[in-house]
Amino acid sequence: MTRHYNFCAGPAALPTAVLERAREELLDYQGRGLSVMEMSHRSPEFVAIAERAEADLRELLAIPDNYRVLFLQGGASLQFAMVPMNLLSGGGSANFLHTGIWAKKAIAEAKRLGYPVHLAASSETNGHARVPRQEEIALAADAAYLHYTANETIGGLAFDYTPAARRPDGSEVPLVCDMSSSILAGPLDVSRFGLIYAGAQKNIGPAGLTLVIVRDDLLGRAAGGIPTLFDYQALAEAGSMVNTPPTFAWYLAGLVFQWLKDDIGGLEAMAAINARKAEALYTAIDASEFYANPIAAANRSRMNVPFVLADERLDEAFLAESEAAGLLNLKGHRSVGGMRASLYNAVPEAGAAALIDFMTDFARRHG
Ligand SMILES: *Cc1c(COP(=O)(O)O)cnc(C)c1O
Repeated sequence: MTRHYNFCAGPAALPTAVLERAREELLDYQGRGLSVMEMSHRSPEFVAIAERAEADLRELLAIPDNYRVLFLQGGASLQFAMVPMNLLSGGGSANFLHTGIWAKKAIAEAKRLGYPVHLAASSETNGHARVPRQEEIALAADAAYLHYTANETIGGLAFDYTPAARRPDGSEVPLVCDMSSSILAGPLDVSRFGLIYAGAQKNIGPAGLTLVIVRDDLLGRAAGGIPTLFDYQALAEAGSMVNTPPTFAWYLAGLVFQWLKDDIGGLEAMAAINARKAEALYTAIDASEFYANPIAAANRSRMNVPFVLADERLDEAFLAESEAAGLLNLKGHRSVGGMRASLYNAVPEAGAAALIDFMTDFARRHG
C-alpha cells in the first residue's frame, strides 16, 4: 500500500496515524463487538467518545469555560445563514470584511435571507492581495457583529492579526470568524471571539461535521420561527444531539485532536511545523522565475498556497507529472485556475519537501 501526498483543499488529507487507529477499531470498537458507526449516539460508549473529543479540543485551544462547543452538520456554508439568524433578531446589521470568495459567499447568504448588510472593509480593490488594515475597517453605527474569514482557502490570503470589532462610538460587538481552513493550525486566543465556526474537512476531520465555538451570551438570541436545528441555544442545551449527530465524523475528529496532543505535542508545535512547510514552499516560489504567488508577504496563507506557472500551457503537464510522482490534487480552484498546494496539519514536512523537489525539477526541465 502506498499513501501519496495529498494537497487537496478539502476534503483534505488526514493523519495516517489517525486512519490506522480508525482501521484497527473499525469492526470492533474497544472490544464492544461493533463499529462506532453502528452505535447509538446515546450509548455510554459514544457519549464518552463525544465528551473526550470536546475535552481534548478545549485543552488544545484553551477554550474558556464561558464558551460552548457544538458539533453540527450543514458545513461552514450553513453557518453563513445560522449566524445572522441567531445574532440579528435584536436588530442591527451584519458587518463583513470582504477578502475573497468565501467572505463573499457569507455576505451573499446574509443578503439572500434579507438581513441588513454593511461592508466594513474590502480587499477587492487590491485584488485580494492583502487584508484590510485595522484602520481601514469601519463598522456601521448599528453593527450587531463583525464577520471575517481568517484564511481565504481559494485566494490563499490570511489575516496576520485579529481585527477589533468596534462601532464608530467605540462600543464592542462580537467578532465572528470563519476558520474553516485555519483552525488548529496554531494556538488561538478564543476569548477575542464571539463565535468561531469551521467545516471539519480541512483541518479537523472528515466532511459532514461542522464545529462551532460560541460564547454563552450569544445563545438564546435566535429569531422565533426558525428550525430547532438552526438555534444555537437548542443545540447547546442538547449537547449537539437534538437529533442524530454525525457520529463517525465526530469520532474521527476526536482521534485528530488526540493526534495533535500526543503525536504532535500541541498547537505551538503544530504551528512551528506549519511555518516551516509554508516558508519552504514560498521561498522556492519566490526564488524561481517559473512560479509566482501574488499575495503580500504578511498575508500569505500557511494552509493554502496558490501559485501560477510562467506559461499556463504547461499547467496540464505539471498536473499530470505531479500526479504520476505521487503528489495529488494540486489543481487550483476552478474559479481561479493555476495551482494550489494545501499544506494542512496532516500534510507532513516530507510532503512539502517532495513537492518543492518536484517543482524545482519541473522548472528545470520545462523552463
Ligand atoms: C471550505 C470552506 C467553506 C465551505 O465549507 P462547507 O463545509 O463546504 O460548507 C467556507 N469557508 C471557508 C473558509 C472554507 O475553506
